[in-house]
Amino acid sequence: MIQARIDEHTVKIELTEGSSLRLDAEGRWGSYRRGPSFFRRTLRDEAWCGSRELDAAERRQLEAWIQETLEHSRQALLAGELPVLGDARDLLDSLEKALALDESVAQRRDLFDQVYAERIPILPPDRYRDLVVLPATGCPNGQCSFCAFYQGVDFRPFSLDEFTTHLDNLARLLGRALAARDGLFLGSANALALPDKKLLPMLELLQDRFGSRPRGLASFYDPEHAPKRSLADWKTLESLGLTQVVLGLETADPALRQSLGKSPDLSLIDQSLAALSQTHIRTGLTLLLGAGPAESGDSQLAQATDYLASLPLGPRDLIYLSPLDSSTWPQPHTAFAPWRKQLRTSTPAQLVHYSMDRFHYYA
Ligand code: SF4
Repeated sequence: MIQARIDEHTVKIELTEGSSLRLDAEGRWGSYRRGPSFFRRTLRDEAWCGSRELDAAERRQLEAWIQETLEHSRQALLAGELPVLGDARDLLDSLEKALALDESVAQRRDLFDQVYAERIPILPPDRYRDLVVLPATGCPNGQCSFCAFYQGVDFRPFSLDEFTTHLDNLARLLGRALAARDGLFLGSANALALPDKKLLPMLELLQDRFGSRPRGLASFYDPEHAPKRSLADWKTLESLGLTQVVLGLETADPALRQSLGKSPDLSLIDQSLAALSQTHIRTGLTLLLGAGPAESGDSQLAQATDYLASLPLGPRDLIYLSPLDSSTWPQPHTAFAPWRKQLRTSTPAQLVHYSMDRFHYYA
């Protein structure tokens, strides 16, 4: 049976033939299901089906199907044949808005490229729906051998004026769909590398412009390339909305860590977690599956087990187990289950699969 649901953020139309369409508050499509095929749109206006981006002809076909669905739904609504969960008049407005949309893919991409001076290469899996906000681009380290995201890209903090323009452009890019983003993510690789003198006015501006979000503000954090922060500094960041910090542990084996381009000294991570554990900010630690030679896997797991047991982590915290694409291990993905089983004995933190190769920044 055909039916539609509408709330302040989303319209979802379900059709009998196993197809469905989701629209944002601006009337732009976000996902479309047609039989076994499920299509999604990225914020840069690329259309994906599974792991494949649609070519121009497929995209035209998809847009024709979406237009048909919109028109069919509008006619059914006017004929009183479309059951609606929510306000039917709002639904009609949304459908008419979607049918009248007159934006080209090129226009949307230009705007996206103005907003994001660099692509969004990765987010932690629990933060995929965040809106990424950039106080800086690049990574102040950029040297990790396993990470292709930022090699050769300079770390560039934005000025407050640039950040203001960035927020203006973000508001234009998303329009009313911005309200549906229930979390914000400070990009790129290490926004917390900015000194608080520079970062705090940006966070105040962000809070002023976009308000507080239910899931708050998250960021990657590399203490080896960031100012040292006291508990009072973290509490100040917490008061400005910071709710989650993700650190790249990668391995608890110091020599392996050094060979990957990180410091062999874990004391900066220890100190950061000691302070963060006295706030309400939840922490995440990334741990690579498949780094180093395959025969070192058992000793890496033993070191990770001991190290995680020594940390002040709680059940809200997260360990991201991330299979390494360039691994020489036979199949690093298959290590996830045994590592999780073992690590569960050493930490109350949640153990989450974090695949680096499947991220798309969906609308
Ligand atoms: S610190 Fe993180 S983002 Fe930067 S190069 Fe290393 S892994 Fe990549």
